[in-house]
Amino acid sequence: MATLLQNLFLCTGTDTGFHPDGTLLIEDGRVLWSGPRADLPASLAEGADRRDLDGRIVIPGLINTHAHGGMSAQRGCCDEGNLFEWAASLAPFTSVLTLEDNRIGCELAVMEMVRNGITAACDCARYGAGLFADAASRIGMRALSGALANSPSLRKAGRPNWPLALEETEASMARHAGNGLVRHYLGAHSPYSCEPDLLVAVKAEAEARNLPFVIHLAESPIEVEMIRERHGMTPFRHLDRLGVIDRLSILAHCVWLDDEEIARLAETGAGVAHNPVSNAKLASGVAPVPAMRRAGVPVGLGTDSTVSNNSLDIFQEMKVSVLMQRVSTGNANITGAAEAFAMATREGARVLCWDDEIGTLEPGKAADLVVLELDHPMTPTPQLVLSDLVYRAGPQHIREVMVAGRTLYADGQFTFIDAAETLARARAHHAHSHSSSGFSA
Ligand SMILES: [Zn+2]
Repeated sequence: MATLLQNLFLCTGTDTGFHPDGTLLIEDGRVLWSGPRADLPASLAEGADRRDLDGRIVIPGLINTHAHGGMSAQRGCCDEGNLFEWAASLAPFTSVLTLEDNRIGCELAVMEMVRNGITAACDCARYGAGLFADAASRIGMRALSGALANSPSLRKAGRPNWPLALEETEASMARHAGNGLVRHYLGAHSPYSCEPDLLVAVKAEAEARNLPFVIHLAESPIEVEMIRERHGMTPFRHLDRLGVIDRLSILAHCVWLDDEEIARLAETGAGVAHNPVSNAKLASGVAPVPAMRRAGVPVGLGTDSTVSNNSLDIFQEMKVSVLMQRVSTGNANITGAAEAFAMATREGARVLCWDDEIGTLEPGKAADLVVLELDHPMTPTPQLVLSDLVYRAGPQHIREVMVAGRTLYADGQFTFIDAAETLARARAHHAHSHSSSGFSA
């Protein structure tokens, strides 16, 4: 049965896709038709179930290109220090995490993302590569799930996680075979926590399965120095020389790239997950986003973890992405709302190599969408709606979230999970299993 959403302000997510009197026809989880009401062919909507959205705003589901859902229970544990100081103060908490902690963390993260209008996310685990996919598909969200390998010689806390990550990913792929909401990747943590042979091995396994390869890259100036000392070149050049950067690579951060590296990055076709709030909180720096975008590099937005952010809210990332560029350059025209909204939607889809299905509300794409009530006192125009979406809006304006045509969340209630019960279970688990460990400190 087709559903016709009507009486809405539609933002399809393309540059020109703003329709003040829009309609959206959905069938079998996909957009069958989208555009101005007046242009809808009557025959197409015949017999469709009709819903009146009372003038609300409809946008494509927001895409989170970089997250660590398993760490959700640790929010607020470590709020100070640069990347390496912060990671050291976090180690006592993360090194004792069990799979059950990760499972609960992923459930909390997925609930928070859906509540905040995120319909797809790339999640980075250390152990339990498929746990995010499990939670996401149970709640109805889309997931690019996997784990980041690291070398025990460089990252001592915890057990070795490769080839365990490969085994866990393959088990999750088998578990979710035929589930259109779930995709997988293989990843490595970073150039500083992985030996070159591990980076090459993980990329080779990803290539053999035609899966994306995820890695943190050039996040902090300390990392740049570290890799220069170890390998005599910058982190980007080190990875490029190893042959692990190509169109299926998803590079988180890329704060410290020079012009030559940006040109080379564009040539490779790799995508970048830009995490402005996390980069600001850890004082990592300001990523050269306008230059990367000008060069044609796909750049999406990411939240990073609840420990380095601490919210999973792409509205905040949109706003901060613009503010960071303006304040760091003294140029208030360097970037704006249209760029930020593109990164949160269609560009994010390109980064996740998922733009065949998500990122816009064009015919043929998945019906992943967010319904917002912005209550602007003036008649909405494309400019006003974009301005509200990027500089003002937040989860408090969300009325409904849909993935593949299914409503996962509406008017504060989840369809497929009991939020209060899940949070109560998470608290009980935490109190019981960590009362005598570093968690209670
Ligand atoms: Zn990260």
